[in-house]
Amino acid sequence: MHYFRDTWIEVNLDDISENYLKIQHHQRDGTKVMAIVKADGYGHGAYQVANHLIESGVDYLGVALLDEAIALRQSGIEVPILVLGWVAPEHAPIASKNGISLTIFQNEWLQQVALQENPLNLHVKFDTGMGRLGINDENEAKLIINKIKENPSLKLEGAFSHFATADELDSELVQLQKNRFSNYLSLINAEGLSVEMVHFGNSAGAIRFPDDEQHYVRVGISLYGLSPSEEMKSVIPFSLKQAFSLHSKLTHVKQISPGDTISYGATYQADETEWVGTVPIGYADGWIRRYAEKGHILVQGHRCKIVGRICMDQLIVKLPFQVDVGTQVTLVGKQADDEITIDEIAQQNDTINYEVPCLISSRVPRVYK
Ligand code: PLP
Repeated sequence: MHYFRDTWIEVNLDDISENYLKIQHHQRDGTKVMAIVKADGYGHGAYQVANHLIESGVDYLGVALLDEAIALRQSGIEVPILVLGWVAPEHAPIASKNGISLTIFQNEWLQQVALQENPLNLHVKFDTGMGRLGINDENEAKLIINKIKENPSLKLEGAFSHFATADELDSELVQLQKNRFSNYLSLINAEGLSVEMVHFGNSAGAIRFPDDEQHYVRVGISLYGLSPSEEMKSVIPFSLKQAFSLHSKLTHVKQISPGDTISYGATYQADETEWVGTVPIGYADGWIRRYAEKGHILVQGHRCKIVGRICMDQLIVKLPFQVDVGTQVTLVGKQADDEITIDEIAQQNDTINYEVPCLISSRVPRVYK
């Protein structure tokens, strides 16, 4: 795609494939990786990531929304896709027509669903401790399983649950969730149904419990080269490569005098004669105002402090010396011997690494290597 702006994300798809192969290799025989590409592939580009991972061996994708699944189908992705979130029952025929599997966790949903010719693949979701989506009652589970059994246009393809604390090394909830899930699986068997796809682990689960018996692990964040939490970094037995970097080019460079102020609110005032540069990225691109507090940008290998408030489309950095307009700057990634990581930005801003690439808006072009 052609674009004219001087700010872009670079996504290294080979790094993503390498991360995938390491995680896949780490699993017990019989467990495969479902690649989670919701939220536009955690901001990396769902189609490009999915396409590359399919070439590397991925055969199942997970997204949050029916719209995300349909967008992938329309781009030509043919492998099975599971929508992990809620889809209104009246939209189920669209899913079945497009060969998209849906998540089921409500009895009323089954009463409202009206299917025509195409059968619908369902994955039943159990809430074993996350408290978000999922059945948390055995009677309701039995009711749903039997309704699916009786309806020839519905197929129980999968059963799953989601960890709440697998990224915390000493959480007792993890085992409790596993036990509850295993009881629900026994209940399905007792009702005379078998499921071909049992899946539980997220990135943290896949990395920490590779021997758990399941057909798939649903891996998101670690495919993109990031650890599910700070404390998990010490237990990941292989290296992951951050596939995402963010760059721009200086659009204006000037010298300011002592007492001159920068940006809205004039919150930054120069103490001495200084060089500053304007960078064409702002909060409308997902580089939120808060990042100014502790934020730096790499310019010719130097860490340069963001000064003043971040604007909608631009921000200003203090430069160590005069540099040319058009000089490439790096907001995330490496320059010379230094690197600004997604983790660093997340930590500085009291958030998690997941949030940083997801927030970068579609206004920033993604360039693939
Ligand atoms: N499964 C479900 C239901 C999710 O909501 C998510 C992400 O939030 C994942 C799997 C992937 O999790 P992670 O990115 O931690 O691997």
